[in-house]
Amino acid sequence: MIIKTSNFVISNTEMKKCPEPKIPEYAFIGRSNVGKSSLINMLTKRKSLAKISGQPGKTRLINHFIINNEWYLVDLPGYGYAKISKDQRNIWKGFIKEYLTKRENLVCTFVLIDVRLKPQKNDLDFMMEMALKSLPFVIVFTKADKISKVQLSNNLQIYRKTMLKSWEAMPIYFVSSAVKHAGREEILDYIEKLNASPVAEKIKARVY
Ligand code: GDP
Repeated sequence: MIIKTSNFVISNTEMKKCPEPKIPEYAFIGRSNVGKSSLINMLTKRKSLAKISGQPGKTRLINHFIINNEWYLVDLPGYGYAKISKDQRNIWKGFIKEYLTKRENLVCTFVLIDVRLKPQKNDLDFMMEMALKSLPFVIVFTKADKISKVQLSNNLQIYRKTMLKSWEAMPIYFVSSAVKHAGREEILDYIEKLNASPVAEKIKARVY
């Protein structure tokens, strides 16, 4: 997919204030500092469309961007940041949850995972919750440039083994590096494919 235009639309904490669900949308989520903003900027070839967070856990908003006037890219708040209070975390979990379970034009969620780390409980729990609610998602392993090829393949193998303890199959996944621009074509081609799928066609054909 060629990205011709990418523009910020709106930030908010309420699902009802999100743009009308007339076009397909794709959400990006992950632990704070996973490289989500960097990935979004890399995908859209914009230096600072998404704000690279100096302070993890700072942006707790649902951010909508419109791409090629065809689909929404949604930057969701990072989860699992220890330094914010439990109350704050619950509210935050609340609106993310509402968005993920009720947003009718959400076609697929991209769950970002730092490929350098051992499988983390909150990522595994998050994906399990998605699966239990039948919400489609894929994984993007980030920061691949930070480790060697051998380490990368070992870490992916460890992740697969861990997931297969409780999953029937490894979910679809991509490997990315915002620094090396790796994974960009694969992720965008996947979105392009989904944009042409019956689910997306149904969203576009819906009358309001
Ligand atoms: P976010 O909190 O998930 O939005 O993460 P950011 O995009 O702000 O990235 C967190 C930190 O990781 C920043 O210092 C980025 O420069 C760095 N980073 C993000 N992606 C990559 C990557 O692919 N490779 C490398 N080497 N660093 C990255």
